[in-house]
Parts: sequence; structure tokens; C-alpha cells
Amino acid sequence: MLTLRNLSKTYDNGVQALKAISLDIEPGLFGLLGPNGAGKSTLMRTIATLQQASHGQISFDNKDVIQNPNVLRSCLGYLPQEFGVYPKVSCYDLLDHIALLKGVVDHKARKAQIEQLLHQTNLYDVRKKDVSSYSGGMRQRFGIAQALLGSPRLIIVDEPTAGLDPQERNRFHNLLCEISENVIVILSTHIVEDVSQLCPNMAILINGEVRLQGKPAHLIQEI
Ligand code: ADP
Ligand code: ADP
Repeated sequence: MLTLRNLSKTYDNGVQALKAISLDIEPGLFGLLGPNGAGKSTLMRTIATLQQASHGQISFDNKDVIQNPNVLRSCLGYLPQEFGVYPKVSCYDLLDHIALLKGVVDHKARKAQIEQLLHQTNLYDVRKKDVSSYSGGMRQRFGIAQALLGSPRLIIVDEPTAGLDPQERNRFHNLLCEISENVIVILSTHIVEDVSQLCPNMAILINGEVRLQGKPAHLIQEI
């Protein structure tokens, strides 16, 4: 279980991006819904230990993440909002490289895991193509494949369906459901349907504050 207590973040320019966020997040899909500027990316980066909170606690399985970020980093998969520039290497080679960095050192184990993920994300047939030549949907599926390397127990997915066509979105939704068994998957999005169709539990973030949290069926009516 991931627990956030009174988590706040004030940027150097004085913007209070997070204001005393408290959440308990259990395995399964958890939706974080909010408009642009609500603080979603800030919260995702803070949980992923890519930036520091100004105040508050984060714990993962009762272990203090702020004091000891490695308790989370060693079991984290992260798909950032913008994955950045892709090098000119094949999908397979890039996954191989990332798996090595994540500590999957045994060659056979790496190959087996990569091939399983390529099948799961429907990228096996295009594994020899450069990721830089992929469509938006294919890149997002690649993003999930790389996030799943090393068998993480917490997966953070920031605004994944923006710019995807309906077919790719459905495909991506199915993939998220599949991977969320026994694993915490936090899905950050401004799209109500992403959360209402997929997530058993959710929170609504507005202006750096959790306004509502619970089951989508109850909350969506209140928006
Ligand atoms: P969201 O992901 O919901 O769009 P963000 O976390 O990106 O929200 O942004 C929340 C607020 O924090 C916004 O007002 C944004 O301009 C500000 N912000 C985000 N990143 C930074 C940063 N690195 N420095 C200063 N302000 C930032
Ligand atoms: P987002 O919708 O991430 O959530 P933003 O436009 O808020 O998109 O942020 C895009 C990038 O710019 C992020 O990496 C964020 O850290 C940075 N950023 C956003 N707002 C500011 C700001 N006011 N000052 C400096 N950096 C910012």
C-alpha cells in the first residue's frame, strides 16, 4: 500500500502545486483526475521520487520513502507524460538496455521478460523498428513495456491517452487493466472517461488539493 500524508510542494517561484495531500492507495488501478495545472504531474514526479516534497510523508508498505527513496525506486515503473527524445535504436535494443539499467542482468531472463512484454503490448512484430518511427499509440505501448521491465509493484502513468485515437485508447485501457492485478497502477489524467471506465478507486485533484476521493460511480455525479 502507498500512503501519502499531508504532502505539499511549493516551487521556488512560489507556486503551491500541492497542498496537504493525504491518500491511501491499494493495489489495482487508481485514477487521479484533474484539469491542467491541478498538480497531477507534480504529484506523480514527487511519488516517483524525481522531485522532493516541501512537507509531508510518503510510505510504501509502511517504509518511509522520503528518508529512503530506494524502497520505492527498486520496484517502480514510470511512464512520464513526455517520454522525450527517442534514440535511433530498435525497440528491442532499447528495452534490453533499460532492463539492464533496472538490474535484470541475466541475459536469458532479460530476453524472456522482453519477449513476453513485446507480446503483451502487441509490439513483437515491430520490435526491430526504431521507437522514433512509432505512432503515438505504439509509443505509449512501448512506454508501458519499459515501465513493466523488472516486475515493478508500483506503476505511475501520467496522462497516457492524450492524443490517442479511440482504437488505441481502448487497447491502452485493456493493457492497463491487465497489468494492474496485484500491482498499484496510478493513472493521472484530465479525461473523465479514462477514470470512470477503468478505475475502481479515484481522487479528484483541483488547484493542488484533493477535493473528493472514493469510487468513480459516486464521485463523477458530484463533479
Ligand atoms: P498538471 O500535471 O495537473 O497539469 P502540474 O503539476 O504540471 O499540473 O502543475 C501544477 C502547477 O505547478 C502549475 O501551476 C504549474 O505551472 C506549476 N509548476 C509545475 N512544474 C513547475 C516547475 N518546475 N516550476 C514551477 N512551477 C511549476
Ligand atoms: P503538465 O500539463 O505537465 O502537467 P505543464 O505545462 O504544467 O504541463 O508542464 C510542462 C513542463 O514544464 C513540466 O516539466 C513542468 O515541470 C514545467 N513547468 C510547468 N510550469 C512551470 C513553471 N511555472 N515554471 C517552470 N517550469 C514549469
